[in-house]
Amino acid sequence: MNHPIYNFSAGPAVLPHSVLEQVQADLVNWQGSGMSVMEMSHRGPEFMGIMAEAEQDLRDLLAIPVNYKVLFLQGGATLQFAMVPLNLLRGKTKASYVQTGVWSKKAISEARRFCTVEIAASNEDRHGSYVPAQSTWQVSPDTAYVHIAGNETIGGVEYDFVPELGDIPLVSDASSHILSKPMDVSRFGLIYAGAQKNVGPAGLTLVIVREDLLGHAPAHTPTMLDYAIQAKDDSMHNTPPTFAIYVAGLVFKWLKALGGLEKMAEINARKAQRLYDLIDSSGFYRNPVEVRNRSRMNVPFTLPDPALDEAFLKGAKAHGLLQLKGHRSVGGMRASIYNAMPEAGVAALADYMAAFARSHS
Ligand SMILES: *Cc1c(COP(=O)(O)O)cnc(C)c1O
Repeated sequence: MNHPIYNFSAGPAVLPHSVLEQVQADLVNWQGSGMSVMEMSHRGPEFMGIMAEAEQDLRDLLAIPVNYKVLFLQGGATLQFAMVPLNLLRGKTKASYVQTGVWSKKAISEARRFCTVEIAASNEDRHGSYVPAQSTWQVSPDTAYVHIAGNETIGGVEYDFVPELGDIPLVSDASSHILSKPMDVSRFGLIYAGAQKNVGPAGLTLVIVREDLLGHAPAHTPTMLDYAIQAKDDSMHNTPPTFAIYVAGLVFKWLKALGGLEKMAEINARKAQRLYDLIDSSGFYRNPVEVRNRSRMNVPFTLPDPALDEAFLKGAKAHGLLQLKGHRSVGGMRASIYNAMPEAGVAALADYMAAFARSHS
């Protein structure tokens, strides 16, 4: 049987098909320039135009206020685990982190290389299945910033609120849900995201940072890790990841054409609801996350017996449903349904899951 292929990878992840076709059409000769984007000087007029448009489109999509810089960096979200404390401690010795899963824990252990980490709240008491309400957080007034992971890609736990911290800057690792819904950027001091989940190819990292937080890195900070220098040089202190920026720019245009982030959020809610409804009503599959914190991007689920996992994955593959195996740290399954996953892909997965449950109950 021939099926369309749907890719549920957690990252690098599915890209809009029309974007890939555009990349293919322009690959060896970008818009009649006689050059591939890969071959262009990053300081030439063609690429400078591509990058300026990408930044403007991102600013339009997220309504980024003028007092925020947009940086196109490298090193992934993981490098941000170090760059955030390096730049945002601003002479303080303490930073606060909310621990909600694997990624916030990694951010915490990296921050401990630079400062005292205060765990403002943790969800480990209930196996990482929820986001602690802000009323339970303990944040010292002398902390430099509060860091959250807005969506925990592995546990499938997503914030259903934006914390309110007064003058303390809020930092969010938004790697796996940026651009999945509108976001009030003005509520954050800094937002960062590795591109390979919801934005574009690996190799690009987006940073959106409020200007007053720039320029406080200690003197020994490596040049490339100083946001202020990256901002002053318009993310061109050295060669930026040009091809990844180009593809991300096409994804931004795709989102605008689709109707922007309000529309994207509507579609994403429908997609996620379809899977969670099926899981909850199946009496077969299980997702342990508290309903209000269930991720709209990453849907982990287990089968009643891990011995069925292999048959489930084999059957899924035969139906064109790829990369559903859960993260090695938690097992089970995970369907990542980022922006570029079409509703038809989610419907195909839901149909397969329902049929598998029927034949194995
Ligand atoms: C994937 C991911 C990371 C790690 O990203 P890299 O770009 O590989 O460093 C960090 N945080 C979250 C929330 C992620 O989903």
